[in-house]
Amino acid sequence: MNDTSLIIKLKKGKEQSLLRKHPWIFSGAIQQYSPDMTNGSWVKVLSADDQTLGFGHYQKGSITVRMLSFGNTNPDQNFYINKIQAAYDLRRGASVISPKTNAWRLIHGEGDGLPGLIVDVYNGTAIIQAHSYGMHLDRHSIATAIASVLGKKIQSVYYKSQGTLDHVDNEYLHGNTTVPHTVLEYGYKFLVDWESGQKTGFFLDQRENRKLLGELAKDRVVLNTFCYTGGFSVYALQGKAKSVHSVDASEKAIALAKLNIELNGFNTEENPCFVADTFDFLKNKADVYDVIILDPPAFAKHKDARHQAMKGYQRLNAEAFRAIKPGGIIFTFSCSQVVDKQLFYDTVVSSANPGRPRHQSTTIAGTTGRSPGIHLSS
Ligand code: SAH
Repeated sequence: MNDTSLIIKLKKGKEQSLLRKHPWIFSGAIQQYSPDMTNGSWVKVLSADDQTLGFGHYQKGSITVRMLSFGNTNPDQNFYINKIQAAYDLRRGASVISPKTNAWRLIHGEGDGLPGLIVDVYNGTAIIQAHSYGMHLDRHSIATAIASVLGKKIQSVYYKSQGTLDHVDNEYLHGNTTVPHTVLEYGYKFLVDWESGQKTGFFLDQRENRKLLGELAKDRVVLNTFCYTGGFSVYALQGKAKSVHSVDASEKAIALAKLNIELNGFNTEENPCFVADTFDFLKNKADVYDVIILDPPAFAKHKDARHQAMKGYQRLNAEAFRAIKPGGIIFTFSCSQVVDKQLFYDTVVSSANPGRPRHQSTTIAGTTGRSPGIHLSS
């Protein structure tokens, strides 16, 4: 499966985190490299006293090795099949996959013991997204393993890593499927275009939050900002919202959002979709909506951008607190990795209280991974 002639030896004491199965080795922990390291190659990792700690993908940079297996057994050609089978069994066991939900994440990086790899399945098509060159080099073995584990449930495998790695091409590795392609999430229909859509085509991580919104939307006037292809809008309408406004800066996203609203039996005259900047859209609106969803892209991807990002979150949430009606609900999210829950919480609270009395509203907030971990009432 891999060439273990390449070796990385750690500094004394630096084996501790690996013995606890931490999946990353930082450059500062390394004492010695084989001379001919190339990005993406498999390496064997040794402790300072030559004990084999495991195997992983090498990549020049701060995270130098992403660990794929621990201990001294060299992964064989069934490595990806075994990992993917375990991930699939886990999701089946947890009832993530059902006749009503055929769009789901099969591999979630470190969580499935495969750092650097995301695989999403959209009703018969698997999308592989590599975040490391090791996964890029292994993409054909991964595609074969997916086809072998999922069998007839998979008709095609698309490789999409242009947005995450330099100098790689997007391509079908098995079969092909016409996009947009219809998928089901909790029985609701969505058109997904993985070829030209964002990320792998759909934001599966928001599934449970969309469901929660659906449960709270009855008889309410809802504003879904940063709506992308209308995920939250469809759930709100299915939950009998009075009406839903959807806003996104991308024309392509709004075109699909309209189709998705119609595909689920609703009409886009009563539930209009706007191509607009959310900040502009919210300007001068006061006490208009019962529910507002704020799901922007990451405002800060690096620590250096954090300060500026917090100002952005502060402004955005303050606009929403002005536009929400008394007693309304704001769903507010941050997917910036460098913004933790407490910082986001403090920012949302401060934007709810910009020095003047505000009416009561409830805020449901989520950070990276976007679980609704914070519930505020202000
Ligand atoms: N909530 C969506 C995912 C949102 S992704 C879902 O459940 O599917 C973030 C979206 O914000 C993208 O569609 C992007 O086009 C949009 N976007 C980025 N900047 C924007 C802005 N300033 N105003 C409106 N939309 C914006």
